[in-house]
Amino acid sequence: MKLIYDPSISTYDFGPGHPFRGDRFPLFIEFIRRREEPFEIVGHLGDPPSLEDLLAVHSSEYLNFIKRKSNMGYGMISMDTPVFRGMWEAAMSLVHSSLSVVRVALEEGLAFGFGGAHHAGINYGGGFCLINDIAVAARWAQRRGKVESVAIFDHDAHHGNGTMDIFYEDDSVLYISIHQDPTTIYPGVGFVRQVGKGKGEGFTVNIPLPLGAGPKSYQMAFEEVVKPIIESFSPDLLIAHGGSDPHFLDPLTQLGQTLSGLWSIGKWIFELKARFKAELLISGYHPEVRNWGWLSILRGCSDLEIDYNPLDIEGKAPVEDENVIRRSRLVVDDAKEILSRYWKIS
Ligand SMILES: [Zn+2]
Repeated sequence: MKLIYDPSISTYDFGPGHPFRGDRFPLFIEFIRRREEPFEIVGHLGDPPSLEDLLAVHSSEYLNFIKRKSNMGYGMISMDTPVFRGMWEAAMSLVHSSLSVVRVALEEGLAFGFGGAHHAGINYGGGFCLINDIAVAARWAQRRGKVESVAIFDHDAHHGNGTMDIFYEDDSVLYISIHQDPTTIYPGVGFVRQVGKGKGEGFTVNIPLPLGAGPKSYQMAFEEVVKPIIESFSPDLLIAHGGSDPHFLDPLTQLGQTLSGLWSIGKWIFELKARFKAELLISGYHPEVRNWGWLSILRGCSDLEIDYNPLDIEGKAPVEDENVIRRSRLVVDDAKEILSRYWKIS
């Protein structure tokens, strides 16, 4: 199974003291090489994104703004996203990464790599995101005539407000996200009632889980909402993305996932029916959990088992108690009621 990695993406780095450092990518590659994991590591493929590829998603004003800031080398894109010199080139490397993963997926059916800047919208950046590589890759595949329908399954702990906005009125791209309750975390949107607009109505699906939600809540959300909707949408291309930030040890989030729970997400992706599938990794703010979490997702996506308990953490997850399950049940039932206007879900 191919895992796309080019060292240039390590330049995507907000600097010392920031939770998002570019070393996460080479550290993970080193980690899986050391473990002799069965992934074939290959560099970026094909051309980097063209201006037309970027303009299919972002406004030219916004692209020029990022380029200008990148040359200046100081300032802020948003409160949590400082400017750094060369950020344009770094963002292009991340987009090239996602394009490469989708290129390989279209040839081989399934591919893995790095990307997932889901907070970047048509006209804005933030949440450590500059250019929405997921949206550019989805549009790239559509514009090349390679695929018509694309489903984006966002399993990051945060909601992908940028991706949602980009495709909010589009019925050719289904955006579906499981995330932490947006009243408790950035970016503060991603509610069940946000279902899309115009011809895109019904093609945005949000499942905001309560604090502490872990494997059981995720399973409920996946089996009762995500899976039936993706299967009835029947996408040509599925782009799934996320990372280790739903893990209970992640310092930026308050969910209750475990490594085996992250593995299950991967396994569900492996089992979903789509002609072409890509999995992109990016998030995770606890360095060791990130390596193990990313590996767990990739092993799930590759139909490989896991048998490790690193740092002796697996059995120490906080109990996903009745209260959490009951609140997840309410969210899932609410989502089913609202989305049953558009999809056959019982
Ligand atoms: Zn996240």
